[in-house]
Amino acid sequence: MMRRMPTTAEMDRAFRARDTSYNGVFFTAVKTTGIFCAPSCPARKPAARNVEFFGTIQESLLAGYRPCKRCKPMNVDGRSPEWVTCLMARVESAPMARLRDADLRAMSVEPSRARRHFLRHYGMTFQAFHRARRLGLALKQLRKGADMDGVAWDCGYESTSGFRDAFARVFGEPPGRGRDASFAVARWMESPVGPLVAAATTEGVCLLEFADRRALESQLVTLRKRIGCSIVPGGNEHLDLLADELAHYFDGKLTRFTAPLVISGTPFQKSVWNRLLEIPYGETLSYEALARDVSRPGAQRAVGTANGANRIAIVIPCHRVVRKSGQLGGYGGGLWRKQHLLDHERAVHNATPDNASPPLADARAM
Ligand SMILES: [Zn+2]
Repeated sequence: MMRRMPTTAEMDRAFRARDTSYNGVFFTAVKTTGIFCAPSCPARKPAARNVEFFGTIQESLLAGYRPCKRCKPMNVDGRSPEWVTCLMARVESAPMARLRDADLRAMSVEPSRARRHFLRHYGMTFQAFHRARRLGLALKQLRKGADMDGVAWDCGYESTSGFRDAFARVFGEPPGRGRDASFAVARWMESPVGPLVAAATTEGVCLLEFADRRALESQLVTLRKRIGCSIVPGGNEHLDLLADELAHYFDGKLTRFTAPLVISGTPFQKSVWNRLLEIPYGETLSYEALARDVSRPGAQRAVGTANGANRIAIVIPCHRVVRKSGQLGGYGGGLWRKQHLLDHERAVHNATPDNASPPLADARAM
């Protein structure tokens, strides 16, 4: 099931207008208060730079936010049963504490009923909801430099190994190295050719690829293997810049990205990717020419593989490499997307008046 978020501009508009028709479509989180809301929340709207958007409740929880008491974002239709409201209040009164079946029964809540209700209404069991809330908070504390044993204890784990396992299942890296461990933050970005997932460390953007919004947890598992560090839902200044630049790129107003990149790969892959960065906007390069340019004449297959291993789609323009015959070759995001990107760039390029000079790539390929 594809779950797409509206564009950032649309979400920002809906959120500022308190548009109730967007309730349940996305969630807004406020960095300064640690609270997430339904778009229609009546509370005063914070500055845009302090707002993050999430597609699901789970993403908001894993990023360390708690549901707003005023708009009750988990209560999309506005009519959560009384016992659910009580259960959530109980969680928020001590979010790090464990609630066992016996605790639920003591509140006259049948655990299996809680499980089913949460699953049906929020797409996760009550225990998964609570765990996401705890782990989101635990991650926040670890990032601030809190001691691991203390955080494990606060989280209701009697052993640090149990905590490590639970943490690692969601965030990847066990929290032992928590403080210095590198974390990447990831978020979805909408585009005319479908949603992309972008990730960045404090150094820069490390990933941009086409994705669907299916099961966040399983996507995080795949992504963190690929980029070799833990990933949590969230944002930072590099992702903000990238999102702006992508929007301008698709509007035809940007031909060169400036967001800093974190590129990891073999020396050969890096030489290929660096060459890709030099292919001018609106132009293409053949696999043959690419192989020649990285001093591996004839190694079309190897450069093709390195091209395909690019993890920062669009920004490192692997879509600009095509067959000598003019055929598209391959593309990880699907050939229709490659075609769309090339058509888009060519149209913008041709519409720009001062593009009469001979294309750089051809000059070099001679
Ligand atoms: Zn609210």
